[in-house]
Amino acid sequence: METVVITRAVWTEAERTMRLCGGLGNECVVYLCGEPTVGRSVARATAVYHPAHTGSATSYEVPISELLKLNSSLFENRLSVLAQVHTHPGQAFHSGTDDRWPTIETVGFLSLVVPCFCREGLSGLAGCYLAEYLGSGQWREVSRAEMLQRLQLEQ
Ligand SMILES: [Zn+2]
Ligand SMILES: [Zn+2]
Repeated sequence: METVVITRAVWTEAERTMRLCGGLGNECVVYLCGEPTVGRSVARATAVYHPAHTGSATSYEVPISELLKLNSSLFENRLSVLAQVHTHPGQAFHSGTDDRWPTIETVGFLSLVVPCFCREGLSGLAGCYLAEYLGSGQWREVSRAEMLQRLQLEQ
């Protein structure tokens, strides 16, 4: 099981980005990136990638071309996506669409959903929902206690 430590600069930028899209009335998605964790159990998210996604009040979509750009950027910078984070207009949960499209089809991949277009910010992960990818299109809801273990916001 992997823990992702999110540097203060990264979570502050993620909040700012998600609030900008939310201010336009759109859901937002960002990818938290860091050095790959091969053989280690703690990863550090040191970069935020905000793809040029489309969005509405209740959905977002990342065009294939953006995913290709993401991949080459990761390759150039020797980073990998440690978690995806996206907003909902209201309550945070994993929708059917969220289930169908894991960015990274790796078992253990983490997907955080942030309520209310991130207006309240990420501090304490209040109202957030975390899902872990189990493979074959299946996800598991991570309990709040485990979420606070696995996603640590650096102060
Ligand atoms: Zn956005
Ligand atoms: Zn969603």
